[in-house]
Amino acid sequence: MQKTAHIIGAGISGLTAAVRLANAGFRVAVHEATNQAGGRCRSYFDGATNLTIDNGNHLLLSGNSHARAYARAIGSEAGLVGPDRAQFPFVDIKTGQRWQIDLGDGRFPGWLFDEGRRVPDTGLMDYLKLAPLAWASEQTLVAKSIPCEGTLYQRLVQPLLLAALNVDPPEGSAGLAGAIVRETLLAGGQACRPLIARDGLSAVLIEPAVKFLAERGHTVQLSHELRSLTTADGKAGALNFGGEDVIALGEGDVVVLSVPPRAAAGLLPGLKTPTEFRAIVNAHFRYEPPPGAAPILGVIGGLVEWLFAFPNRLSVTISNADRLVEMPREELAQKIWNEVCEAAGISGEQQPQLPPWQIVRERRATFAATPAQNALRPGPVTALKNLFLAGDWTATGLPATIEGSVRSGDRAADLVLAAKGS
Ligand SMILES: Cc1cc2nc3c(=O)[nH]c(=O)nc-3n(C[C@H](O)[C@H](O)[C@H](O)COP(=O)(O)OP(=O)(O)OC[C@H]3O[C@@H](n4cnc5c(N)ncnc54)[C@H](O)[C@@H]3O)c2cc1C
Repeated sequence: MQKTAHIIGAGISGLTAAVRLANAGFRVAVHEATNQAGGRCRSYFDGATNLTIDNGNHLLLSGNSHARAYARAIGSEAGLVGPDRAQFPFVDIKTGQRWQIDLGDGRFPGWLFDEGRRVPDTGLMDYLKLAPLAWASEQTLVAKSIPCEGTLYQRLVQPLLLAALNVDPPEGSAGLAGAIVRETLLAGGQACRPLIARDGLSAVLIEPAVKFLAERGHTVQLSHELRSLTTADGKAGALNFGGEDVIALGEGDVVVLSVPPRAAAGLLPGLKTPTEFRAIVNAHFRYEPPPGAAPILGVIGGLVEWLFAFPNRLSVTISNADRLVEMPREELAQKIWNEVCEAAGISGEQQPQLPPWQIVRERRATFAATPAQNALRPGPVTALKNLFLAGDWTATGLPATIEGSVRSGDRAADLVLAAKGS
């Protein structure tokens, strides 16, 4: 008889496991607590800007092999778009200086040897000082591993690690930072081409997965929150969705618990999980980007960190943003817009006071990628033989990213299949 895989949580990690297990012959039932799939990676219509926006601007890189394989599996890889070369323009809005890092398109990081392609006013020696990150342990602080000052740090290392770790880089885990550096900068330009879901996160990474499952007879049930589970003989025995809504698990049925850490700890008492989180703030402005605007612009010297140009919209990402969570929204929007105008070169008549805008503050965007929090990340195996964990906060060896989330879903699926085989 066909076995059922119950996937709890329809974020990227859960959907990854769902698609893998559907392809492997399981009957898949996804249960999502909210009324929309996607978790922290989703789009929605926003009345203030009259646009469909993402909860956060998400950047993938061409070296995110698991995330791209997931998109390929659901038929939407072509929706991840970006420039042909790994070029990253930057502006310092304090000094007005602009530059572009050009990582090329090969495996060999030849850009390090070319003054015209690396960060201005940096030398090869500055880059060699980053080498300890490549072998640093997850318990080491970034600050203990590499210099956290100087031109290279301010213009490249700080923006890169801040975006990847979502903590102030010196307090971050050097091992997690090292994984990012190994898989991006050290893997050459071929791994660093920026990729964006131009038509929106839901359209590219979520809805195609839901459609893929539905077309094959699997289910994705929204507003279906797992409240508790019962256990027997070292296994999950039944899933309780409230009241009479209880699903008894048959022999060979499995559960992939792909919910955020707090929810997982509530469902599995005694489970060790990260306890500290950091906010990410995104600001969206309804404004046609100036002609020739870079799809992604690194911004130094202000609040804004990354500026994304979409059709009809300029959007900003600010990581490690707990300090901005209580700031009045109007004040924050105006401050960010002023910086956007500086960065994008919008001035004079082209510069409206403040176009239609939206501020999205994800308070618990990611776990804090510090050594102490990283040590709290559990692996995928639990005390229950038929229940596996997935999620960007599990021990993936990466910070909380889509790539980490997809890897966790793949790993949970691998374990389910290995258990089935044995
Ligand atoms: C603003 C922002 C910007 C980001 N930018 C980037 C970026 O540029 N690049 C990048 O790679 N990553 C980025 N990330 C991180 C990325 O979004 C996450 O790593 C990824 O989406 C996490 O997916 P997940 O499946 O692990 O968890 P989640 O998305 O949290 O999914 C968990 C799901 O479980 C559901 N759930 C919870 N409890 C229950 C329950 N009891 N029963 C059923 N369902 C339940 C939740 O509703 C949710 O849908 C960003 C995140 C944010 C918030």
